[in-house]
This record gives sequence, C-alpha cells and structure tokens, in this order.
Amino acid sequence: MATKIPIAQKRLFANVFICKDCSKKIRTQAVRVIAHKVKCPRCGGHSFRPIRKK
Ligand SMILES: [Zn+2]
Repeated sequence: MATKIPIAQKRLFANVFICKDCSKKIRTQAVRVIAHKVKCPRCGGHSFRPIRKK
C-alpha cells in the first residue's frame, strides 16, 4: 500500500520545488523556476530544486 497512485503523485510533486537556502516548499511551474521568476517568500532566494531528489 505504499505508492499505488502514480498519477496523483505526479500531480502532487511535478510542480513543487524546494528552496535551497531555507527548504521552503513552493508550488510553481518548472519554466518559471528555470527563468528565475520565482522568489522564495521566506528568504527571498532564487535557487530552487525539484522535490523528487531521492
Ligand atoms: Zn528560501
């Protein structure tokens, strides 16, 4: 019963990024992250990574 819903998982994690500085989760589009249009609301940083790293 671990991960049987790949579609729901993809929807949950596809557009979620984590701030590299303060680990704040942000839901946005990957295009905006690449274009540096996303700003972290907590620390104001511009560096994010996708949530699915491990
Ligand atoms: Zn941050």
